[in-house]
Amino acid sequence: MENIDWGKLSFGYMKTNYNVRCYYRNGKWGQLEVSSSEDITMHMAATCLHYGQEAFEGLKCYRGKDGKVRIFRWIENSHRLQSSAEAIMMAKVPDELFKEACWKVVQLNADFIPPYGTGASLYLRPLLIGTGAKVGVSPADEYLFMIFVTPVGPYFKAGFKPVPMQIVRDFDRAAPMGTGHVKVGGNYAASLRAGERAHHEGFAASIFADAKTKQYIDEAGPANFFGIKDGKYITPDSGSILPSITNKSLRELAADMGLTVERRHIPIEEIATFEEAGACGTAAVISPVDSIQDRESGHVYQIAKNGEPGPWCVKLYNRLTGIQYGEVEDKFGWCDIIDVD
Ligand SMILES: *Cc1c(COP(=O)(O)O)cnc(C)c1O
Repeated sequence: MENIDWGKLSFGYMKTNYNVRCYYRNGKWGQLEVSSSEDITMHMAATCLHYGQEAFEGLKCYRGKDGKVRIFRWIENSHRLQSSAEAIMMAKVPDELFKEACWKVVQLNADFIPPYGTGASLYLRPLLIGTGAKVGVSPADEYLFMIFVTPVGPYFKAGFKPVPMQIVRDFDRAAPMGTGHVKVGGNYAASLRAGERAHHEGFAASIFADAKTKQYIDEAGPANFFGIKDGKYITPDSGSILPSITNKSLRELAADMGLTVERRHIPIEEIATFEEAGACGTAAVISPVDSIQDRESGHVYQIAKNGEPGPWCVKLYNRLTGIQYGEVEDKFGWCDIIDVD
């Protein structure tokens, strides 16, 4: 695509040529279909519209240094979509179907995979929705699984620069025994008000305190939180955060690079002791944290020094993105090659 300025892409939607879709009807999945329409037609009583039967995923593929196209840990996304489906009683997408859909949609939109060296990638957005009509509250009998793709630039426009965040206690994104651990749209709806307020008040994201005790760090908006101190990578252990595949990868890399990995409750005051902190997810990989304001007390914890990301954040970021772009040995076998030519 000569007309795309790959270096200037934002994290937003751009129309591509095709998407792929598969319908679940009469108790089974049909054939994967290819569509060039951006629209979905469904019954106005579909359960996704009324009762929140909706889950999604996000993963990326990358044009590597060697020209090959790599998709990152798709099987993890497939398993997570299955756990989301189970949590809100939707039909599960089998791994083989998830894989076939990823490969097909990437191959069909090969022209939209950003060239190596631009910092951009192709984002895949799998979506699973209840399409069956129900008025009484119950799970649908019919589902649609689809994937669309869009080329994306880096999530944070400022690049790999530490950003200010804000701790909130007056909103919860998920209940302790609710759906915080699965990737369903309802969690996002519940987090919008806190997130938008944080943006208006000058912060990149809101960090939620745990809903039950309000003493511990929970989810960092649409990302997981981690802190680094004394040779340790520390990330919250909570039943209401989404098990981030980026966080899982960073934990494995951190251990490989000699850090001790801890998953445990992180009291909010412990922020004062962190040498580095970050939020992690597929979109941004790592967003280093500059400072964290406790909105209730007004106290500001300054973490980054001179507005620069800390050395561990830089090392972890370079190693992970190096694996994704085929620059660094993929010793964990995280990438699969998609043949697009
Ligand atoms: C998707 C998501 C993440 C990040 O998960 P990755 O697998 O790393 O992309 C973190 N938190 C929430 C709430 C999410 O929805």
